[in-house]
Amino acid sequence: MISIILIAPPAAGKGTQSELLVNEYGFAHISTGNLLREMALTDKNISDMLSTGSLISDDIIFNLLEDRLLKDDCKKGFILDGFPRTVSQALEYEKIIKRLGVHTNIAIYLDVSKELALDRTIGRLVCSKCGHVYNEFIAESKPSVLGICDYCNAFLIKRDDDNINVFSKRYDLYCENTYPLLDFYKEKGILYKIDSGIGKDKVFEVIKSIVGDFYD
Ligand code: AMP
Repeated sequence: MISIILIAPPAAGKGTQSELLVNEYGFAHISTGNLLREMALTDKNISDMLSTGSLISDDIIFNLLEDRLLKDDCKKGFILDGFPRTVSQALEYEKIIKRLGVHTNIAIYLDVSKELALDRTIGRLVCSKCGHVYNEFIAESKPSVLGICDYCNAFLIKRDDDNINVFSKRYDLYCENTYPLLDFYKEKGILYKIDSGIGKDKVFEVIKSIVGDFYD
């Protein structure tokens, strides 16, 4: 079982690369943000916290995560998108890895400037049905018809937290809490850094060459 942790600021392409990895290798895509957005449909507290960009408590995150990791589609391997977000989550995750019998754990850092992350956040559109991610300002990521998903014809929506004010808070939280994870995984010798500005297809080629060393 392989665990691939994607680390990046908001809208750096974690969701897009996860989708490509799912299609290529059949791994499960576990986005704690998506799990929380689902939970927010029936939980106003979570919904309010998400719309301000605050981090959700570790108790909730670990409950969601542990349930998700037990599903059959995780048996080959899985991609963690948005988790861990703090060093304390990463430390707790080390115990989970042992329990699950993960044989390979790698962390891929998608490096992107704050300016590009902001542009991508403001332009991000997500399919309301299949979750495919588009960007109205990036030629290679635009839908063919404005506002409509290329794959399932459903409407594209904007996330509540994809606006300039909440972006600043999420970016600051990323610098403060998530950035230290890079040293954590570097010291373990499992960190791979990719410049996310080279375009999604090129980024994916690099990711495949990394994953290919552990999984074929
Ligand atoms: P994302 O979809 O990864 O951008 O996450 C959206 C929001 O979900 C974040 O701004 C946080 O409020 C919350 N969230 C997602 N993952 C975590 C996590 N691992 N720990 C705490 N909060 C999280």
